[in-house]
Amino acid sequence: MDREDPLAPFARRFERPDPDLIYVDGNSLGRLPKDSIALADEIVRHQWGDRLIRSWNEGWLELQERIGNKIAHLIGAEPGEVILADSTSVNLFKLALAAIRQMPDSRRVILSDTLNFPSDLHIMEGIAQLAGRKIELKWIPSPDGCHGPVEAIVSALDEKGALLTLSHTVFKSGYTYDLVHLTRAAQRHGVWTLWDLSHSVGSVPVDLGKAGAELAVGCTYKYLNGGPGAPAFLYVRKDLQEVLANPISGWIGRDRFFEFDLDYRPAFGIRRFLTGTPPVLSTSLVEKGVDLLIEAGMKALRQKAQRQIRLLLDLYEAHLRPLGFTLNSPQDPQFQGSHISLGHPHALGIDLALIHEMKVLPDFRAPDNIRIGIAPLYNSFWDIYETVRRIRQVVEENRFEKYEQDRPEVT
Ligand SMILES: *Cc1c(COP(=O)(O)O)cnc(C)c1O
Repeated sequence: MDREDPLAPFARRFERPDPDLIYVDGNSLGRLPKDSIALADEIVRHQWGDRLIRSWNEGWLELQERIGNKIAHLIGAEPGEVILADSTSVNLFKLALAAIRQMPDSRRVILSDTLNFPSDLHIMEGIAQLAGRKIELKWIPSPDGCHGPVEAIVSALDEKGALLTLSHTVFKSGYTYDLVHLTRAAQRHGVWTLWDLSHSVGSVPVDLGKAGAELAVGCTYKYLNGGPGAPAFLYVRKDLQEVLANPISGWIGRDRFFEFDLDYRPAFGIRRFLTGTPPVLSTSLVEKGVDLLIEAGMKALRQKAQRQIRLLLDLYEAHLRPLGFTLNSPQDPQFQGSHISLGHPHALGIDLALIHEMKVLPDFRAPDNIRIGIAPLYNSFWDIYETVRRIRQVVEENRFEKYEQDRPEVT
C-alpha cells in the first residue's frame, strides 16, 4: 500500500530524527516541516537580527492575512474571509460575543453539544455573563458519547436561537458533523453557526462557502503542522464583516492604527478582528505546513486517510477487539474524522507503555480512550500496521500494569 501511495514522498518533507518512532498524534501536535527550520532561522537571523524594525514594512504586517488566505483555500472560504490571530479560544470569544451583541434580545439561546471541546463551552459560559442580557446555554447530549445528536439539535433550533456552535470534528470520538446540512438547518430559523474546525482543517473536507456558514475558528498546530501554540485562525463571512464589532477592540484592528488617533474606528474587512501585535515568529511558521497540504491536495489526502482508517479498523477487528478493545468512533466513513478512538479498561496504562517502551506516540483522553491520529501527509500504512502490532504486544505481555498509577499532566 505504501509503494502505491502517491503521497508517500511527503513524509520526507518532515523532520524525523528517530526513524523508528511511530507518531500517531498529529491530531494534537503536527510534525515539524523541514522547511520551517530554515524559515525560523531566516526570520530570527535576518528579519529580526538584521532588518530589525524595518521588517514590519517588509512583510510582517501582511502575514496574518496572507497565510489566512491560504487557509481559506483549505476550508472553502474566499480570500479576505480568514485571518490568523490569537488562540482558538480567544477567537471563539470574539466572534461569539460579536454575533450575540448584534442580535435582537429575543434571540437568547446558544446551542452546542456535550461532545464539544471544554474550552469552547467555558468560553460560552463567560459570554452568557458578559452579554448584558439573559442568555440560555443548551448543551444537547450525545446519545452514546460518540455520535453527534443531529436530530435533537435540529429540533432545538427555533426563533429564540442566537448561535449554534459545534466542533465540526469532535475531539474524543472523531465524529464529524455534516456542516452544510446543519448550517442550512440553523439558517432556516435565523440562527447563526460558529464552527470550530480545529480537528477538521487539513484533515477532512470543509466547504464554508457552499454552506454559507457565518462564522468559524480553528487551530493551526494540529493537522496544519504550524508548531506548538501557533496562532489560530478566524473566519467571518464577507457580508458580515462590516456588521460585527470586535469586542476586544485593540489598536491593530483599528483603521490606520499607526496614526495613533485616540478614537477607535475598526479597520476595513477581516482585519477588524485583530487586537494586538501579532507573534511574528509563530505566525510565520504556520505557512510551510499549510503549503504542504495545498501541494498534496485535500482530496488526495482525504482519500488516503480513509484507506488508512479502513486498514486500522480491519486490524482492530482482527487483533484488538479480541483483547477487550472497543471502537469509540463512528463505523460509518461518512462521519469519520482523521482520528480513531479505541477504548480499553487499561487505556491509560497501555498508552503510557506504548510511549515509554514501544516507540509509539498516540494520546489518551479520559476516561478510556486511546486516540490514534492519522495524518496522511506523513503517516504511512506501515505506521498503522505497526501501531496495532505494538498495542497488541503491550496487552499480551501485560506491559501496561506498571503504569496504572501514573497520571501525567499532558496525556
Ligand atoms: C485544540 C482545540 C482547541 C484549542 O484551543 P486553544 O485556544 O488554541 O488552546 C479548541 N477547540 C477545539 C475543538 C480543539 O480541538
